[in-house]
Amino acid sequence: MKTVKDYIRTIPDFPHKGILFRDVTTLFSDPRGLRLAVDQMLHPYAGMRIDKVVGLEARGFILGGAIAHQLSVGFVPIRKKGKLPGPTLGESYTLEYGKAEVEIHEDAIAGGERILLVDDLLATGGTAEAGIKLIERLGGTIMGCAFIVDLPELGGRARLEGMGMEVHALCE
Ligand code: 5GP
Repeated sequence: MKTVKDYIRTIPDFPHKGILFRDVTTLFSDPRGLRLAVDQMLHPYAGMRIDKVVGLEARGFILGGAIAHQLSVGFVPIRKKGKLPGPTLGESYTLEYGKAEVEIHEDAIAGGERILLVDDLLATGGTAEAGIKLIERLGGTIMGCAFIVDLPELGGRARLEGMGMEVHALCE
């Protein structure tokens, strides 16, 4: 039986020379791979009340949509600045070279809603941290942060756990 890791391909020198990019499109395109990833990402939350799934652009949309459908709850996107049409809240964060900003619709989460945050990969944790701040500014309670891949040497898990988050990843 193949594991989730077996479906992920590594592309050298993408998007920059010296970077090993973990490509999850080969996991998503395989019917067993996608099913396995979604089922395993949901496993820690069985029996828990989740009101909404929030996905981080862009691969978090694919996973988050499938997970929300499975839970019969709504899905909320966190997008890069300037992509959402309605009134938004924004959070900026630092990248290796420069800054980025992500946004959420300000009416997407109601106070007290229980949220599952989803993305494909956790590296430095900067993107997820910005997402957590947006959800918390809207009054959401984060029940967990779920990823397919954790790159522990980049410190994302420690960063999110330091914020009191429960982090689950399917592989390192
Ligand atoms: P972080 O903010 O934790 O440093 O980076 C994580 C974000 O960058 C995620 O949204 C993730 O999709 C993207 N990312 C960074 N490196 C990779 C990679 O090697 N593979 C994939 N699939 N996404 C990556």
